[in-house]
Amino acid sequence: MRAILTWHSVDESDSPISVRPEVFRRQVEFLGSGRVRVVPLAALAAATDDGEDAVALTFDDGFANVGAIALPELAAQRLPATVFVVPEHVGGRNDWGGHTTRGIPTLPLMDWRALGVARDAGFEIGAHTRRHRDLAAIGGAALEDEVAGCVERMDAELGERPSSFAYPYGRTSPEAITVVRDVYARAVTTEFRLLRGTEDHALLPRIDMYYFRSPGQLESWGNASFMRRLWIRAQGRRVRRLVAGDGVSM
Ligand SMILES: [Zn+2]
Repeated sequence: MRAILTWHSVDESDSPISVRPEVFRRQVEFLGSGRVRVVPLAALAAATDDGEDAVALTFDDGFANVGAIALPELAAQRLPATVFVVPEHVGGRNDWGGHTTRGIPTLPLMDWRALGVARDAGFEIGAHTRRHRDLAAIGGAALEDEVAGCVERMDAELGERPSSFAYPYGRTSPEAITVVRDVYARAVTTEFRLLRGTEDHALLPRIDMYYFRSPGQLESWGNASFMRRLWIRAQGRRVRRLVAGDGVSM
């Protein structure tokens, strides 16, 4: 069983983008226990399903609390992870487009220096568009700038071109997927499921750890209650997407 796990912010607010520090610590203890192999995102995407349990860890938006709390805990357990950042907001806050969103805390994001430290510690720094725009709502030059321009900006700041990409809000369009496929080796969505035997590398599914934030939920990996939880959440998200057009603000 293989999966890409997602977190956003490690903080005390209990918002839909937050996991509490003590919960995260427990999740890292489990991930470091050896029960499930933790591999870099590129390795997981490239592997074929050999029946072995494996996960890749991802963090969207590059919150400062991830740099301060999550990455040091992962480093202590020698666990790899990918952090997806928004270059025009690096060192700023998650007020995408100058707006805040009700129920979502506005928090500081890692700056380029912190991202350089994380990269030098072995973490992958991936791209999450230049400004966290909804790619389904734009096209042409604007889309090109968000997707390809993001690589140039990150290369200029970090001296390295990102090869992994995360779609803001999980939103895609045929045009966006084509541009992303041209620019990046792999891209992750918010489609809520495990990886199958073969996957389109431009549309990799992920499991949001917000839905596994209670004690024991991630630790139940692979057993009946874990699988039931996965299925229920997938149904809930499908229904919300049909009703609200997937307006989750992440
Ligand atoms: Zn995001």
